[in-house]
Amino acid sequence: SAPELVDVTDLLETAIVLFQAKMDRAQIHVERFWEPDLPLVLCRAGEIRQVLANLVGNATDAMPTGGILRLVLRKREDTLEISVADTGCGISEETKQRIFEPFFTTKGAAGTGLGLSISAEIIARHGGQIELMSSTKPEDRGTQFRICLPCHPEQP
Ligand code: ADP
Ligand code: MG
Repeated sequence: SAPELVDVTDLLETAIVLFQAKMDRAQIHVERFWEPDLPLVLCRAGEIRQVLANLVGNATDAMPTGGILRLVLRKREDTLEISVADTGCGISEETKQRIFEPFFTTKGAAGTGLGLSISAEIIARHGGQIELMSSTKPEDRGTQFRICLPCHPEQP
């Protein structure tokens, strides 16, 4: 697919819908913080949707007994920032070093370990960044990923 100008809100909503039933069963509550007047992004929509679906899916897997999925979309300098944070099991220090490796999974046969490695590749090809945010505060349980995508310069 060719790059197109998209509203990332729509891509994120589609990713949520994919996991909504599973999140309902696990009693995961979704919180959305969408800044008004978000800029459009020039991207391959299917690829970015795949990245967002993997992040929402990973967060769902991390909260089998419930929690909060906090999603933030905001403009930061010349990028659109997407934050996906959960109140789940968190990631150990050893695991943190390996999460972007192809085939690295802690889910046994249920995981492919390809989600984050493919995501990193997709985001890099879009000129963006994906990072695991690690908190220094022990009371901050869970996991947060942040993606920055360049905004399209010429917006109507
Ligand atoms: P998979 O989901 O198939 O395991 P990914 O590349 O998407 O592959 O993720 C790799 C690993 O990173 C997961 O197996 C898990 O150990 C860890 N991980 C990713 N996201 C989270 C999260 N939100 N909470 C806890 N662990 C996570
Ligand atoms: Mg995954």
